[in-house]
Amino acid sequence: MSARIQSHQQKFVDALGADLVLLGEEVERYCRDWHGDVTTGAIAVLRPRSTDDVSKAVRICAELGVAIVPQGGNTGLVLGATPDAPESQVVLSLERMNAIRQLDVDDYSAVVEAGAILSEFKDKVEAAGMFFPLALGAQGSCQIGGNVSTNAGGINVLRYGMTRELVLGLEVVLPDGSVFEGLSTLRKDNRGIDLKQLFIGAEGTLGIITAVAVKLMPMPDQVATALLGLNALDDVIALYRRARRDCCDLLSAFEFMPPLAFTLAREAMPDLAMPMSGDHPAYALIEISGSGLVDVSDLMERFLEGVMGDGLVIDGVVATSKAQARNLWLFREGMNEGQAKRGPHLRTDVSVSLSRLADFVRDAQQAVYDALPECVCVSYGHVGDGNVHLNVLPPGDLPRSEIDARIYKAKKIINEVLDGYHGSISAEHGIGRLKKSDFDTRLSAVRRKLLTAAKTAIDPDLRMNPGSQLSFARD
Ligand SMILES: Cc1cc2nc3c(=O)[nH]c(=O)nc-3n(C[C@H](O)[C@H](O)[C@H](O)COP(=O)(O)OP(=O)(O)OC[C@H]3O[C@@H](n4cnc5c(N)ncnc54)[C@H](O)[C@@H]3O)c2cc1C
Repeated sequence: MSARIQSHQQKFVDALGADLVLLGEEVERYCRDWHGDVTTGAIAVLRPRSTDDVSKAVRICAELGVAIVPQGGNTGLVLGATPDAPESQVVLSLERMNAIRQLDVDDYSAVVEAGAILSEFKDKVEAAGMFFPLALGAQGSCQIGGNVSTNAGGINVLRYGMTRELVLGLEVVLPDGSVFEGLSTLRKDNRGIDLKQLFIGAEGTLGIITAVAVKLMPMPDQVATALLGLNALDDVIALYRRARRDCCDLLSAFEFMPPLAFTLAREAMPDLAMPMSGDHPAYALIEISGSGLVDVSDLMERFLEGVMGDGLVIDGVVATSKAQARNLWLFREGMNEGQAKRGPHLRTDVSVSLSRLADFVRDAQQAVYDALPECVCVSYGHVGDGNVHLNVLPPGDLPRSEIDARIYKAKKIINEVLDGYHGSISAEHGIGRLKKSDFDTRLSAVRRKLLTAAKTAIDPDLRMNPGSQLSFARD
């Protein structure tokens, strides 16, 4: 280790105290991505306990000319929260800043520190009789600050919107150590440009979010969940159209899955009981939820009567208990683990307009099979948001270099088809380091100019998560 790094480490310890600074082997787990595919390193990991600590840490980094990689739960799937230049970067973990500062039952709002784990925050909100609707597979590990920094989506977006729509205010430590104090819970506040929007989805490239004011909702005390078998993905889209109309605004989730989902989920969780017999070309997992005087079960029953009577839905199962509903969701969640078990594969997170989703999946899968017939395509996702995870699984017994070559080729093919559909290469996971070049090559000159202006105005020394999203040149 160089004398310069040793000297930096000593300065962090002297200025912040040993309790806030991790060094040596303890740094490693913060420098490994969620899948464990990539492990790097860092000068140190800083673990502040307060906004003041964050400010202080950021000022020391500025003095030393060290770059900062903010880290939440490290569940992001695009290499955004792990360093790429171990000798000139520190990880700043928010894990110790997890208090709920305020919970207001009349205002249906909360102020929570950035390091709060999403599921723990949701449990506390629920105990107060309210609901925070953000819901994702990683919710037992991801943090509110990470959710805001990635503008996370998840299964309830079609009803409640992306994280951006749930954020009322932010507290952010800027790259010079000053604090943007914007923790208002006001619903209406049109005092000029809404600056907090800059930090939502910025993936830590403009500052460190230390606390978030969020909207809460009434707890939906009735939930009806159904898994439905259909003849084609086009029928799933037609079903969604019907569901939006027939289920009022109570539709809260609408996912599509291929038949392979069941095999994959059971490869990861062999004890999962098959929910229905027979095999259908396409499946929809839908949820209707509500609170108060509506009868959600009756609504689901009448909706299914209609769509089965018309022959749109071939077969279906409605959960009659929370445990059964959980079992249905386990197929959707377990298929991710099943894919991981089959070895390294391409994971995509793209979006197209809903009216073209079925065509896109057909065209992109066909293009992959034409070029790589030995691979398996798995397409699933959040129908209501036009969000598709079109993953490609190369044969697991190939040498790693050949698997990587197929992953690279499949990504290129899918992105080319996607461009023809004017879709997005990142529906909900962000850019990070993984999608940086795909993002860069698709940027218009005007968009690049605006992004550069925002970055250089707020972070003129380019020290906030420099390897992520886009490379900016210093003047
Ligand atoms: C099994 C699984 C399922 C998933 N499902 C979904 C899904 O349905 N929808 C979805 O949108 N995502 C999903 N994800 C991706 C991931 O969970 C989200 O992107 C999540 O919002 C990341 O939160 P995190 O706290 O783990 O952030 P991290 O991974 O730690 O960080 C993500 C980015 O935000 C930055 N960052 C983190 N905290 C802060 C902060 N306080 N201030 C400034 N910058 C910060 C980091 O530098 C990094 O660039 C899934 C991931 C897994 C593993």
